[in-house]
Amino acid sequence: MSAVLYAATTNQGKLRDFSTAAQAFGIEIEPLTILATIPAPEETGATFKENAILKAIYYSRFAPSEIVLADDSGLEVEALNGAPGVRSARFASDAGLADSPDAPLDNTDVWNNIVLLQHLAGVPPEKRKARYYCVLAAARNEEILHIASGSVEGIILEAPRGTGGFGYDPLFYLPELDRTMAEIDLETKLSLSHRGRALQALLKLLSPNPKPH
Ligand code: IMP
Repeated sequence: MSAVLYAATTNQGKLRDFSTAAQAFGIEIEPLTILATIPAPEETGATFKENAILKAIYYSRFAPSEIVLADDSGLEVEALNGAPGVRSARFASDAGLADSPDAPLDNTDVWNNIVLLQHLAGVPPEKRKARYYCVLAAARNEEILHIASGSVEGIILEAPRGTGGFGYDPLFYLPELDRTMAEIDLETKLSLSHRGRALQALLKLLSPNPKPH
């Protein structure tokens, strides 16, 4: 197999996660740079799997003969019947909260966290269970090669903690570590996160003989 995978994402947090996990398999992750110059496909899938597949197939057209990796992931909160789910990246904008077009910084994560806290106002800790879920799809020349998924369970706090990670990480508390996802180092995050687990599974399918640690 090729030792390079092209990741179809511009999310720096995801790229960092992918590159770190792939190193152990002797696989290099490169961003699919053409992404910045082509329109993104509409994520019309009703599930993470459908969206990951449609993104992998679509983006593989732009890197002929290469393996293109696409993911779809998000947060499912039990008390919200699985919301925001596939709408995780757009939770706040769906609620009408977004940066003004001339804002110097992208505050989407901050808005999303505020909307999540609003939805869970008054919900006690024992009812704030949530999970992150990730589906990864690898495609070449518009054909799916492999699909893998991973998840991790946690509890949504009432206020953010920590400065690491991205997205909902400052609110996502891991009881067994007594830390939020934003309070753990990248290696620990990858060993237990939805994306880390999905990536391990996918890399095993692509490269059955990983390098020893
Ligand atoms: P996607 O880019 O369509 O997969 O949207 C994923 C969204 O889910 C992100 O924008 C985040 O809001 C959230 N999300 C997914 N994975 C993570 C994670 O590892 N940490 C924090 N938020 C995440």
